[in-house]
Amino acid sequence: MSEERDIVVVGGGICGLATALALHRKGIRSLVLEGSDTLRATGAAIIMQPNGWRALDQLGVASKLRKTANAIESGRFITIPDGKQEPIPLGGELRCLRRMDLINVLAEDLPSNAIRFGCRVVSVELDPTTSRPLLHLDDGGTIKAKMVIGCDGVRSVVASMVGLNKTGLYSIDVTRGFTRCEDGHGLEKEFVVMSKDGLQLGWLPVDDRLVYWFVTQKWTSPDSRVTLAKDPMLLKSSIVEAMNDFPTDAIQMVSDSDLSTVQWTELRYRPPWEILRRSFWKGAVVVAGDAMHSMAPFLAQGGAASLEDAVVLARCLAKKIKLATVGVHRGPRGRPLSFEKPAVEEAFEQFSKERRARVFWLTMETFFVGSILGSSSGIIKLLAVLFMAILFSDKTGHTRYDCGRL
Ligand SMILES: Cc1cc2nc3c(=O)[nH]c(=O)nc-3n(C[C@H](O)[C@H](O)[C@H](O)COP(=O)(O)OP(=O)(O)OC[C@H]3O[C@@H](n4cnc5c(N)ncnc54)[C@H](O)[C@@H]3O)c2cc1C
Repeated sequence: MSEERDIVVVGGGICGLATALALHRKGIRSLVLEGSDTLRATGAAIIMQPNGWRALDQLGVASKLRKTANAIESGRFITIPDGKQEPIPLGGELRCLRRMDLINVLAEDLPSNAIRFGCRVVSVELDPTTSRPLLHLDDGGTIKAKMVIGCDGVRSVVASMVGLNKTGLYSIDVTRGFTRCEDGHGLEKEFVVMSKDGLQLGWLPVDDRLVYWFVTQKWTSPDSRVTLAKDPMLLKSSIVEAMNDFPTDAIQMVSDSDLSTVQWTELRYRPPWEILRRSFWKGAVVVAGDAMHSMAPFLAQGGAASLEDAVVLARCLAKKIKLATVGVHRGPRGRPLSFEKPAVEEAFEQFSKERRARVFWLTMETFFVGSILGSSSGIIKLLAVLFMAILFSDKTGHTRYDCGRL
């Protein structure tokens, strides 16, 4: 089975759906190929900060999402056992969204048939005769596309095709989940992080009943954690056991969580030096989201950066492929689309130029935080603290980024 398509987006996660929506808002049709059988969201909730809200505003979905989550008003970092407290600066609008709400809202405004489920891309290559991208699917089918946008996450097959290396692995992992209190949790609209030795527990209310919590821990033995990950009950009890010096209500919150939402994740990252040196595209194939810049969640920025990618990429493509007049092809709203090499390359170059500096600094800051939390070398920790103090003294600077108008 072989078919032909104009723009194919690989992956129907946050970035893939946001990219398809951004293109749709610009009058450009695309097809999203999603490996899962339905829309899915991994990992309970996502923290959205001001830069993410700016991108969501451009995508036209921010107001719907604001109705689903309370605004967080303050933040506190508490050290255990001494109880020392420090404020966590927030930088502006911060809400904790159910991931599924975000995914649903992004998908809702797409035309019907814009997403094809249960369709996993095995590999992508450039056709040796036409130089057009050729996608190989797991059912043996192929798609000849005029353009491919790889939003297939941290283990992206599209990223390897454009020449990016495999992502690195931190020695820290995260377990997260939801705790629901039907009578109301009574918590302040506050982001709280408690820390003791190598373990950090953070929580934020989503609304008046639902609380999102996460625990980051250093690996004791990677194998044992992978085994625990398969059994949420065991995973939860191992975390509760490790929290023995934490306040009783914090322990209770994790104990009371809904097991079906408890999930373990290893943390992968694309090193900042790779972001600086490598190309994000090859031929008519480009990457965005975690496929381009997977970063650990220490700044809670990976998802927001993926939304920014979507806005910037759609803007660049609309400017270049809609205005060209050679080799034209009618778009859904009757405007000409060109997939000629110069138009596509200029669009990808502009996209890379706008995104490279932004994601370099985000991955760099995340990398330093990861080194402070995860490294076993005192010297590396010290250097990371020093670089953080010099380069990132403004703790909320990254939330002020504006991806601009769609
Ligand atoms: C523990 C944790 C906490 C986080 N917290 C935050 C936070 O608070 N705030 C924030 O902004 N970010 C956060 N992030 C980062 C955020 O989750 C990611 O940056 C974001 O999900 C990236 O979206 P994506 O669409 O690029 O990738 P993904 O969400 O991974 O989506 C990729 C999609 O592609 C599909 N897919 C993969 N391979 C194929 C294939 N070959 N063929 C077809 N489909 C395929 C997958 O099924 C999936 O649906 C967190 C990350 C982690 C790990």
